[in-house]
Amino acid sequence: QALKDKEFVIVYQPKTAVNTEKAIGAEALVRWHKDGKEVPPGKFIPLFERNKFIIKLDLYIFEQVCKDIAFWKEKYGTVPIVSINVSKEHFVHENFIEEYAQITDKYGIDRSKIDLEITESATIDDKIDIIKVLNSIKEKGFVVSIDDFGTGYSSLSMLQSMPIDIIKIDKVFIDKANLQSDNNIINYIVYLAKRLSVKTIVEGVETKEQANYIKNLKCDVIQGYYYSKPISKEEFEDYFTKNS
Ligand code: C2E
Ligand code: CA
Ligand code: CA
Repeated sequence: QALKDKEFVIVYQPKTAVNTEKAIGAEALVRWHKDGKEVPPGKFIPLFERNKFIIKLDLYIFEQVCKDIAFWKEKYGTVPIVSINVSKEHFVHENFIEEYAQITDKYGIDRSKIDLEITESATIDDKIDIIKVLNSIKEKGFVVSIDDFGTGYSSLSMLQSMPIDIIKIDKVFIDKANLQSDNNIINYIVYLAKRLSVKTIVEGVETKEQANYIKNLKCDVIQGYYYSKPISKEEFEDYFTKNS
């Protein structure tokens, strides 16, 4: 019923290129407007993963984002790259990516403008052949990111064999880093990613000091409150026009 009543709303959090400091895209994040209050995703996503409603919700968010991208394409000609979260619950369905691809076709969207974020913990489920899943996503032309990297204890050899484009380094690594030292775990993750020709993004960057530290690391992209909190579609449109 909440879906029908359009209680789920998308906010966009800008992503900024480290070298140019220009906005390059955003992550789409869901919000539930329930009885006049905004419920954060942490309060309902775990439940929706258990009762599988997440499959419907993710597809709904995906389609809404495609509509937004189609609208921006019409209005501006160029569009940002948008990251969308995909729960691992989708992976048990053989052809889940077909449905995603059909939606992009329906709205005439270039799939290289869509980055599917998959959490690192989703890659370590023995019931799922993750390499097969990632290959099927890549074959369709989507960009693939591993989200919350460093929190899921996937093996490093696995990382080497996974067809991914981007590692999203979890917030804990920048939070724990001693900004006076170059001997933090985050330095080694960025080094490893470069060796594997995988791009890096650091999320949860809140201060100028953290942003400067990341710039020196030659990490590719920053996402965090330092540049912007998640904002409405209209605010993001304005932000992207001014900062890209
Ligand atoms: P996530 O994918 O790791 O998203 C990043 C979260 O960090 C977001 O929380 C964002 O608001 C927050 N964040 C970004 N920058 C900062 C910062 O500088 N400081 C701090 N303290 N936080 C920051 P949010 O929006 O509450 O989302 C929580 C989680 O819910 C997401 O974590 C994601 O796992 C899940 N989620 C959100 N939308 C969707 C969706 O449409 N589908 C699925 N499957 N999961 C979603
Ligand atoms: Ca994410
Ligand atoms: Ca994350």
